[in-house]
Amino acid sequence: MRLVLLGPPGSGKGTQAALLKNRLNIVHISTGDLLRAAVAAGTELGKIAKATMDAGELVSDELVLQLLEQRLNEPDVANGYILDGYPRNLAQAQALDELLGRLNQNIDHALALIVDQEQIVARLAQRAAEQGRSDDSESVVRHRLHVYAEQTAPVVNYYEDKGLLTAIDGMGSIDEINQRLCDAI
Ligand code: AMP
Repeated sequence: MRLVLLGPPGSGKGTQAALLKNRLNIVHISTGDLLRAAVAAGTELGKIAKATMDAGELVSDELVLQLLEQRLNEPDVANGYILDGYPRNLAQAQALDELLGRLNQNIDHALALIVDQEQIVARLAQRAAEQGRSDDSESVVRHRLHVYAEQTAPVVNYYEDKGLLTAIDGMGSIDEINQRLCDAI
């Protein structure tokens, strides 16, 4: 089972991916987490990515693809995975299809969480207080939402055109939303 989980920052992708991972016995691959680990480890790639992430911009397609390709070559992905935070623009969606073609794999479903913007800003303010992520300040959050609308929203249509997309109401309790995702899958 290979899934793509789409939705704006703060839509609950990370939370839902963590639950689906356990329920479906597959791995959760978050490019944001891979990038934050590279920053924390002080790798060359992490050093290049940090300022871009702090500004709420997208890290270059090449760097993120490099991290993803490494991750997809690890043995624990054999049973499947949930991609969270990738693809983030149409070029990445195409690059993913090429990479999967080389790996002889395909995406089974793309799930898009639909939430309202005010709820997102409130959720991310809470996350900023709890986790202290350097890109959760209100101005950066607003910029990340703008980047999502401009660059990532077209990816939803990309999977819709392929007949792979299910839109999921992302409002409600964590359990309710998780059940909707499982029903869709
Ligand atoms: P996330 O944890 O998915 O919200 O990602 C945090 C930040 O990491 C984003 O604002 C981007 O700067 C960067 N990032 C994560 N995934 C990608 C991606 N697929 N392409 C480019 N930048 C990314």
